[in-house]
Amino acid sequence: MAMEGSAHEAEGAGPAAFGSPEPVADLNWKSDRARRFADGALDLWQEFLDRLAELPVTHGRSDEQVREAVALEVPEEPMGDEALLAYLREVVLEWSMYPGHPRFMAYISGSGTVPGAVADLLAAAVNMNLGAWRLAPSATEIELHVIRWFAEQFGLPEEAGGLFLSGGAMANFVCLKVARDQKAGWDVRNEGVSAGQPLAFYGSEELHVVSDRAADMLGMGGKAVRKIPVTQDFRMRVDALREAIRGDRARGVRPVAVIASAGTVATGAIDPLEEIAEVCKQEGLWFHVDAAYGGPAILADDLRPLFRGIERADSVAFDPHKWLYTPHSGGCAIVRDAVRLFESFAVAPSYVYTDRQRALSGVDLGVMGPQFSRGFQALKVWVSLLAHGRRAYGQRISHDAALARYMGDRVDARPDMELAVPVSLSICCFRYRPPDLEKGVDAEAYLNRLNERLMMEVQLDGRSYCSNAILNGHFYLRACIVNFRTEAEDVDALLDVAAELGARLHGEMRSEGTGEQPA
Ligand SMILES: *Cc1c(COP(=O)(O)O)cnc(C)c1O
Repeated sequence: MAMEGSAHEAEGAGPAAFGSPEPVADLNWKSDRARRFADGALDLWQEFLDRLAELPVTHGRSDEQVREAVALEVPEEPMGDEALLAYLREVVLEWSMYPGHPRFMAYISGSGTVPGAVADLLAAAVNMNLGAWRLAPSATEIELHVIRWFAEQFGLPEEAGGLFLSGGAMANFVCLKVARDQKAGWDVRNEGVSAGQPLAFYGSEELHVVSDRAADMLGMGGKAVRKIPVTQDFRMRVDALREAIRGDRARGVRPVAVIASAGTVATGAIDPLEEIAEVCKQEGLWFHVDAAYGGPAILADDLRPLFRGIERADSVAFDPHKWLYTPHSGGCAIVRDAVRLFESFAVAPSYVYTDRQRALSGVDLGVMGPQFSRGFQALKVWVSLLAHGRRAYGQRISHDAALARYMGDRVDARPDMELAVPVSLSICCFRYRPPDLEKGVDAEAYLNRLNERLMMEVQLDGRSYCSNAILNGHFYLRACIVNFRTEAEDVDALLDVAAELGARLHGEMRSEGTGEQPA
């Protein structure tokens, strides 16, 4: 832009004298503009909530179809609210899949609390940065408060603390990094893992894969996670754990931590926490509990006793975005002594200076974990707890488990279905077994093929949705209920769909001759 010239100069060297930039307000939407756009989005949200139950769980379209529909060119000029909202409507109602659908029972994916979604909007609106206390005073105090409340629920002592991460993967990673740093026996943060003995973690054969990846990211290598055999009900065998630790010590490997699962992803099994705590105490190891799935069940009166021993943990990872139903994403890492988190993550960047006493500032979460700038993930969890209250949460979590047990009973009662293992927490594993199938070795191979195909057919069908578990080499369908919209009729519907598609597939495989099923 041209300088206005001598008139300004004559008045003195004010900013204009240097050609101060004119305001650029295009991105600076005022409240009425914000309101107009948000109202459109809220209408869409309302429509979504009204129609969710009648939508298919998924539309089952190909990646190419989806890409073509959603990956627009970035426009040079504003798209316009109407066109943009119409586009968002398409994305939401035509091109999405719905973990919050009453008939979604796959993996472990929470349904997404309604108040949590509103909280996310406000968290984004204010846009505090929880890397530093001064940038997010109320948000930091809320996050710390929520974490302390959960620590108390788990029975951890007052010094316990922690923070929010993106989910269970990162929450476990943070806890395992603290374990490594505390138990390696040398300054592993600065000297690295190669400066000492090889290190090892111990988890059961049913341990979630994120712990292998954590060991990989920690420089220990995925194989450093020893897989301990399980009992028939998929819980870690403590005798085998002791043996593995002994064997490693004899070989010059330094045992660091035992990772107990409190709710395995396949069957919801809970490792014997008290016994593992005892082993850790005797062996001087870190006792970590991966409660990513099961953790929130501590709020349900009938399920809480299953977690006895978790109060002895050195660290716990759990996922509000699973069984606390809060919107993705948000997981929590809690460490028995919060100071350990600073010992593992503190850094001192030159460009962050605070006179803490003068500023009266609190804890900077950016030096308690791997992230520096951080969003306000805790708000959706906090608002959900405030909006629903502890009792309703406990009841609904307990209800999910009751629905899973109901499903187990239904499976048992059907002539065309078979339960894999007794239901634990809110997971039911089952398979379709054609009533005309004879028992035998070949029958097992056939059932695997049949149920593999069946799982895909159920997912593509879209009326309901489940995933799978492979247990002792057998392929099972698996339903996990962490969904406050699911009720008994939805459970029945999944079984009916599976039976219908199973019978059809069985017929097809027989006529294709791909079945090789026993005559
Ligand atoms: C889901 C899960 C994880 C991984 O958590 P994300 O939130 O998906 O990152 C780890 N461990 C267990 C037991 C889980 O159920």
